[in-house]
Amino acid sequence: MSVPKVEEKLFQNRYVIDAGHPHIRIVDPARCRSGCRQPCLVCCPAGCYTLDAGEVVLITDGCLECGTCRVVCLARNLEWKYPRGGYGIQFKFG
Ligand code: SF4
Ligand code: SF4
Repeated sequence: MSVPKVEEKLFQNRYVIDAGHPHIRIVDPARCRSGCRQPCLVCCPAGCYTLDAGEVVLITDGCLECGTCRVVCLARNLEWKYPRGGYGIQFKFG
């Protein structure tokens, strides 16, 4: 039996979106532009951070709740909490 790839494992997860209640928020978008090297763009394994017309955009749908963005954001520009009960990622694999 072949071992599933990481992408295949991630595809097995399910995500319950808590519309209107993102569990991570960029506190001050201006700080993302001024001097930050924007590590969140490359460190998030779920690709929740993207650039749109030079602005860092965060969409928490699909967030794995790994906490990486919280660690790499040295500007402490993220308000981070777990999703409310019943929402967020539901892991199929341990
Ligand atoms: S690491 Fe923090 S301050 Fe820098 S772009 Fe990402 S969210 Fe903004
Ligand atoms: S907690 Fe992990 S998966 Fe979620 S947005 Fe931050 S880096 Fe991405």
